[in-house]
Amino acid sequence: MGIIDGKKIAAELRAEVAEKVAGCARAPHLAVIVVGDDPASAVYVRNKARACESTGIRNTTIALPAETSEAELLAAIAGLNADDAVDGILVQLPLPKHISEERVIASIALEKDVDGFHPGNVAALFQKRPCTVPCTPKGIMKLLEAYGVEPKGKRAVVIGRSLIVGLPVAKLLLDANATVTICHTRTADLAAVTREADIIVAATGHSGTLRGDMVREGAVVIDVGINRAPDGTLCGDVVFDDVAPKASLITPVPGGVGPMTIACLLENTLDLYLKRYQ
Ligand code: NAD
Repeated sequence: MGIIDGKKIAAELRAEVAEKVAGCARAPHLAVIVVGDDPASAVYVRNKARACESTGIRNTTIALPAETSEAELLAAIAGLNADDAVDGILVQLPLPKHISEERVIASIALEKDVDGFHPGNVAALFQKRPCTVPCTPKGIMKLLEAYGVEPKGKRAVVIGRSLIVGLPVAKLLLDANATVTICHTRTADLAAVTREADIIVAATGHSGTLRGDMVREGAVVIDVGINRAPDGTLCGDVVFDDVAPKASLITPVPGGVGPMTIACLLENTLDLYLKRYQ
């Protein structure tokens, strides 16, 4: 069993980004909007700001109160869309219930959609056209590549079908010529499907989703989940101690997919900046 060191691979990517940023005429600029005071969102936004600093990317965080109206949020985004000094715009999800995430994401200028959630980018991903690839799926593919896992001809099982993780990572695995199955809450016999898999990506947001008896010997296991165990510690969707002895490679939580998501956000910001000035 080998543990995939997401921190190390992410540090390498961040160093690559920092070197390219140093050669830019001005610092690429990421604007992050956060609405309300969700504690998890606050942590993510702070980590993103720190990561920007460490690579020389300029970061502006705009914190709006929970009672911000959808019109006010759309106006803030319109301001950033029109601001020539802003290269990437990220709206931290989830948004308060009275705001439509769909309308908000669609209002971000396509060429500044750093998360790749805009319908134009989603369509491009599924039509195999050039696009901004969502950070977490992109980071997962980079981890597989870094550890020499070739998806071609392999059976990959993705647990979770969200627009943010499950669907895009399934598409990327498909593009890498894996045979992909997507599982979800209505999958009748999850274990029967996962036991067939060479590569498993667990993205459910529920600890204990993947146990050792659900995994065949030698499988590569990518754990996307970020959950709180009853004792307050962070854990993934995979029961690590149970699955790790059977896996050929496995990501830990924390220290697996999470750092790659942030490193890919930095890379996407740099790429958007470069595209605007090409
Ligand atoms: P989501 O709630 O939008 O989607 C979860 C999906 O999992 C759904 O499609 C659902 O059908 C499926 N699912 C839930 N329970 C299941 C079960 N028991 N069996 C089979 N399928 C099940 O969540 P999301 O936004 O895709 O995020 C998933 C997890 O990944 C969350 O824990 C989130 O915090 C984490 N996440 C981590 C990163 C990172 O950088 N590490 C990035 C994004 C999301």
